[in-house]
Amino acid sequence: MSENARRISSVPPASRAQLKSYPTRSLSSAASGNEGKSMKVAVVGCGPAGFYTARDIMKGLENVEVDFIEMLPTPYGLVRYGVAPDHADTKNVTAEFDRVLQDPRCQFMGHVCVGKDVSLADLRAMYHAVVLSYGAAADRDLGIEGETMEGSLSARSFVNWYNGHPFYTDLISSLESISSVSIIGNGNVAIDIGRILLKPVPELAKTDIADHAIEVLSKSKVEDVHIIGRRGVAQAAWTIAELREIINLQGINTHILPEEIQLDAIDAETVAKKRPTKRMVELVQQTAGKPKTSDARKNLHLHFLQSPVRVLADDKNPSKVGAIELRKNALEGPAEKRKAVPTDSTKTLPCSMLLRSVGYKSLPMEGAPFDTKVLSPPYFQLHIVPNEGGNVEPGLYVSGWLRRGPSGIIGTNITDGHQTATSVLRHWGEAGALEASKPGREGLKQLLAKKGVEVVSLDGWRRIDQLEKVGEDVVVRSSEDERVWQEMGARAGRPRVKVTSEGCGERSEVT
Ligand SMILES: Cc1cc2nc3c(=O)[nH]c(=O)nc-3n(C[C@H](O)[C@H](O)[C@H](O)COP(=O)(O)OP(=O)(O)OC[C@H]3O[C@@H](n4cnc5c(N)ncnc54)[C@H](O)[C@@H]3O)c2cc1C
Repeated sequence: MSENARRISSVPPASRAQLKSYPTRSLSSAASGNEGKSMKVAVVGCGPAGFYTARDIMKGLENVEVDFIEMLPTPYGLVRYGVAPDHADTKNVTAEFDRVLQDPRCQFMGHVCVGKDVSLADLRAMYHAVVLSYGAAADRDLGIEGETMEGSLSARSFVNWYNGHPFYTDLISSLESISSVSIIGNGNVAIDIGRILLKPVPELAKTDIADHAIEVLSKSKVEDVHIIGRRGVAQAAWTIAELREIINLQGINTHILPEEIQLDAIDAETVAKKRPTKRMVELVQQTAGKPKTSDARKNLHLHFLQSPVRVLADDKNPSKVGAIELRKNALEGPAEKRKAVPTDSTKTLPCSMLLRSVGYKSLPMEGAPFDTKVLSPPYFQLHIVPNEGGNVEPGLYVSGWLRRGPSGIIGTNITDGHQTATSVLRHWGEAGALEASKPGREGLKQLLAKKGVEVVSLDGWRRIDQLEKVGEDVVVRSSEDERVWQEMGARAGRPRVKVTSEGCGERSEVT
């Protein structure tokens, strides 16, 4: 098993402990007391959290209908549009999700955006329980001057672009005038992006990376990728497997300034005690001391203890990114709470593209008692959205990144899903007998038909999936005088060629 596969299949220790306190058989006992009536559940968002919640609701209750309402025509959330294309093992988790979709009690309703095509209030009127698991589709900002300049992009949009998310296909049309890219953030997303920019394109072309990304990357002039972290090497959030993978890329020299990776006494003590951090820090130290080759294709630069303070315009084009000004930090505070504090020392790093990888952010939804405090401690344990007075809204639940904030791997959502499902079932067991019957999917279908919303069904998604994998040609753009066809899947010698138009091919073929 590759390290990557191991990463998703393992639930972190804290989650495992939590899982033990929610044994599976507790699901059916949670739902008991309301036999005979069919519960109607809507799950908003078809990513890992939605899947794990739906799976456990169906495990605990036989007489239930679960409808996935997904904005995109395709399921899997960030497993399709976040996980790096060259990490195919990680995406194998979709086989587990497919088993959920195949359950006859379950229905996929793709291309339906809650908040636009149907309101949350309508859903709540039609379903006994609504689970919000729509993830985090916005970005945290750096909050510095110049960050909205042309050439400054969020990591989220860049990742969506190379993964073929239909809303981001036009994000980048060329990297031919870009020689140097700075990525702000020291996590795995920053590493994924760096790897995609530095990896030989023929290797990427064997993956399911979007066709438009292959085209742009094959002409890319990017030679230097800088990954910049505000704290020290001991605090870097990436995992060693990802770090090793980028450092070991063929034809890459990695540059690290020795003075930026010196450990002070506090970090040295912490690192000595934590084996994974120790191994990671040793890898960085060894890499810093490694001789550089003269025939390297490209360069990776890892920077530590540097905060961006402002984005500077290009000399020739004042609306475009030309450089980033960095301020050196020092570390303060006790071992587990090391804080980056600014010093007086600054430097300017030329770059023609800036990618901000400092975290995702969830968007509020009209009708949900959304409280940003729910997403950060001490409220992150709450899985039912409370109203302002802290009371629970009956019938409304939350799961995944929307519930606990945008961190954690796919497996982390198992615990969330389980806890949320347990609550749904418990409330149904306690109060469901008093609930009136609800129209559920029949009501929703009628409402969407009335509004002219073209729903992509499970069969529609399967057709897209087949097109992408097996290799028929598909119309990707169509106008009165032009139809653009794309060679797909095996026919193009690829594991999958993603359809990237919002309708995912000719709508009539897939609905
Ligand atoms: C770039 C990146 C790479 C990652 N790589 C890995 C990895 O290699 N391994 C790993 O284990 N984890 C990885 N993760 C983490 C993993 O992807 C997340 O833990 C997981 O996807 C979160 O699940 P979720 O269901 O909460 O959100 P999501 O996966 O984001 O799912 C939310 C779903 O809701 C839908 N939606 C949004 N708004 C609406 C709306 N209004 N109406 C209807 N539907 C809506 C979205 O389209 C989406 O399908 C990565 C994350 C990122 C960002």
